[in-house]
Amino acid sequence: MMPLPHPNADSRAYWEGTALGELRYQRCSDCGHAQFPPRAVCLRCAGALQWARSAGQGSIHSYTAVARAPSAAFKSAVPYVLVLVDMDEGFRLLLTLRGPQTAPTIGQRVRVVFEATEDPAICLPQAVQDGD
Ligand SMILES: [Zn+2]
Repeated sequence: MMPLPHPNADSRAYWEGTALGELRYQRCSDCGHAQFPPRAVCLRCAGALQWARSAGQGSIHSYTAVARAPSAAFKSAVPYVLVLVDMDEGFRLLLTLRGPQTAPTIGQRVRVVFEATEDPAICLPQAVQDGD
């Protein structure tokens, strides 16, 4: 069985969002910094954070193909591609690339979709190449 995230006080609003099909991130009320992953305070200025909703669009900053399962739970998932995505709102997100795909390229546009899991409270954000 694939390991699933365990929401904590910082990430609970993020995972509640993904279960609703919303990609949420934090924006600092003081300096405007877009922050991910979720934290208690802004990493740039220690200011207060507000949740915002992302449009779920971004560009591939980097990627890697995973051929060797990191643990037994991932044996049926390999090979897969991980993409590091610069989201249009200014934060960066690591996602699995899903769907019919051509080889990813740096700068390529992707969008976020949500994959249901056996836990109805957890939906995993994934990237698909724009146009899929
Ligand atoms: Zn700040």
